Amino acid sequence: MNNIPDNTEIIIIGGGLVGCSMAYYLSREGIDVMLFEMRNISSGASGRNGGMVVQTDGREIQTIQSKRFLYTRANNKILENLTEELDYDFEYEQTGSIDIACSEAEYEQLKKVTALQKIMGDEEIQLLDSKETRDLCPIISPNIKGCRYRASDGSLNSNKLTNAYAMKAKEYGAKIFSFTPILDLLIKDNVVKGVKHIHGKSTAKIVVNAANAWASTFTPQIQIIPCKGSAIVTEPTTRFPALVWEAYPDGTMIWGAQHKGGNILFGSAPECGLESVEDHYKETVYPADIDKAVKRFITLFPALKDISVIRSWAGTVAFSLDALPCLGVIPGISNLVINAGFPVGMSWCPIMGKLGAEFIYNEGVTSLPIDIFSPSRFGHVVKTLPSKYNYTILQDYLNQVEVMEN
Ligand SMILES: Cc1cc2nc3c(=O)[nH]c(=O)nc-3n(C[C@H](O)[C@H](O)[C@H](O)COP(=O)(O)OP(=O)(O)OC[C@H]3O[C@@H](n4cnc5c(N)ncnc54)[C@H](O)[C@@H]3O)c2cc1C
Repeated sequence: MNNIPDNTEIIIIGGGLVGCSMAYYLSREGIDVMLFEMRNISSGASGRNGGMVVQTDGREIQTIQSKRFLYTRANNKILENLTEELDYDFEYEQTGSIDIACSEAEYEQLKKVTALQKIMGDEEIQLLDSKETRDLCPIISPNIKGCRYRASDGSLNSNKLTNAYAMKAKEYGAKIFSFTPILDLLIKDNVVKGVKHIHGKSTAKIVVNAANAWASTFTPQIQIIPCKGSAIVTEPTTRFPALVWEAYPDGTMIWGAQHKGGNILFGSAPECGLESVEDHYKETVYPADIDKAVKRFITLFPALKDISVIRSWAGTVAFSLDALPCLGVIPGISNLVINAGFPVGMSWCPIMGKLGAEFIYNEGVTSLPIDIFSPSRFGHVVKTLPSKYNYTILQDYLNQVEVMEN
């Protein structure tokens, strides 16, 4: 026996930050929602990340950068009021973030990106030289060349935020079923009618695919690429102004932040055990990957060389072909909505959950335009992936891929 209703208005697949935020914004409007999660709420990437809230990550000099900022800035506005709104402390702090240049060439690149961002109207972003960076963050290595700094970035506890959204959604009447995998969609005459889950079937007016790295299981028409990431956490230490940071000390990205409890959470793109696309779903952590990440960490923060690592884990994120999320109706299948393709999420998921909900309850009218996220923007293009990839390789590859609409 189970208590899963046979019918509802909206079914959401996936209990991560996107699925739970959509459940909250929809149920708050009085809409009947059922959310299905195959494991526990927040057991996917949303419970396995670094919690860094960075509004303009990445260094590519493309107009897409400015397009993204419209959404990530709106996301920050949501975060600023969300503790009160959800009545839950999810450890949000606006500590600032630094994108660190480890070489003169990188510093020149950051100079160009920052100048371009300013031309595009980003008044907050700053370029700091080595001394200014160390004034801000005294424990950073004197060898670094400078950074790109944003004061309103920060960090949060994503597991807590995801659960806070889920709990508030439940208060508004949403029904949340964990450990209930969706096995298939019910589709008739190119219209989605509901889902098949492990206990039977449920029908709905609209089904939302918020399964991120697993999204292609339900909507193979849209290429969403899984990509494994891993994270490491240290013992708590004295709080110091290390902000939220990212850097490429040896060409591979390392990121990190010190969280409210004093633990430092950092990570780097793993390289071991990634022979096939399926390997990106395996949550194994390899000691050789940890060693490399720790070496990169010590290069940046030599004063912290004796700090102990206490835990590590891995999770899977998702890239679309242009690394922007996909939000909208799946071409050719009525009432099937996708909200997935999040390589990073803290600066994205709350606003995209809200826009996704508006798209449904306002019948396509949203408070910010969502055409750049249209699932049909790739036409029928399917890209062959590099045979072996990690986060850094995939990001570089997608930056070079030209997406052609047809
Ligand atoms: C190691 C690591 C570090 C990261 N660090 C950061 C960071 O510092 N800052 C940042 O912004 N982002 C970071 N991210 C990325 C961020 O975590 C994701 O972008 C974000 O959590 C995506 O949320 P989501 O809800 O789309 O996906 P998920 O949280 O993965 O949710 C999708 C859910 O769908 C469920 N699901 C899949 N298939 C089914 C099915 N058949 N039936 C039911 N449910 C199903 C999954 O179990 C999962 O819970 C990091 C990710 C990782 C892995």
